[in-house]
Amino acid sequence: MSFAEGILNGKSAIVTGGATGIGSSIVRKLGTLGAKVGIVSRKEENLIAAVRAFKEDDGIDVAWRTGDVRDPDGIKNSFDELADEIGGIDILVCNAAGNFICPTEELSWNGWRTVIEIDLNGTFNSCQAALIHLKAAKDGGRIISISTGQAEFGWPGAAHAGAAKSGIQNLMKTISVEWGKYGIRANWVNPGPIKGTEGVDRLIIQQGLEKQVTKNIPLGTFGEGEDIANAIVYLSSDTGRYVSGAGIAVDGGSQWQRFL
Ligand code: NAP
Repeated sequence: MSFAEGILNGKSAIVTGGATGIGSSIVRKLGTLGAKVGIVSRKEENLIAAVRAFKEDDGIDVAWRTGDVRDPDGIKNSFDELADEIGGIDILVCNAAGNFICPTEELSWNGWRTVIEIDLNGTFNSCQAALIHLKAAKDGGRIISISTGQAEFGWPGAAHAGAAKSGIQNLMKTISVEWGKYGIRANWVNPGPIKGTEGVDRLIIQQGLEKQVTKNIPLGTFGEGEDIANAIVYLSSDTGRYVSGAGIAVDGGSQWQRFL
């Protein structure tokens, strides 16, 4: 079951952190449904390998630039160059993030700052960098940021990421109001644990938490990258045109499980 073929024909999308994990599933989905896609992240080798795989596996040509979302001028240059190459920016997916497990009392200033800079400041920088292009989007620009269900509650062991992901949700709410006049919609997606990602491997499986986490998922299983990508397509195509300032949990129902 999928969306109508070509539903994103004529659209251009940038996905930060699009070479790996959930980002790469989003790129494949947007690209195969007709969007021209550009990806940005720091590591050239990841970008080149991903672009080759997108071509070989899915037959899609994906543009790429290196860029660090923490660097406002650098990311603006990368976005501007990509916009020239892919025909503007109708859709921005703020997916790039970093995280590590550390109790708050042991968390250094540098550790705190790094995650806030990548996740929260990086999302702000990406939105600012894309704004001029999103304003020009024919059917209204779309921003979708990847947050997490943990942001709704606090995140013991990852205070930096919990605070950053909460901040991202608040930023999307503000932008939905301030940039609505430009036709821009701003929303976020809260993924549950997604199998096959580096984050789930490091933060859940390597911590010995797989059974415990699975028990707290009402649908009884981890999600797939494609589940998140489907939510992105809904929010970035005509189907989501009246949705702004909203979050979608794609987590097998686990957001309500923890209090039962
Ligand atoms: P991932 O594979 O580690 O992807 C993160 C991407 O961000 C990488 O491609 C990385 O590329 C890029 N990145 C990191 N720092 C960057 C920076 N400073 N500038 C530009 N790009 C940067 O992680 P994932 O698990 O797929 O996660 C994707 C998103 O989903 C994240 O926002 C994460 O918080 C969220 N999420 C994931 C899960 C899950 O189950 N995996 C659950 C909830 C939420 P480079 O190293 O090349 O820069």
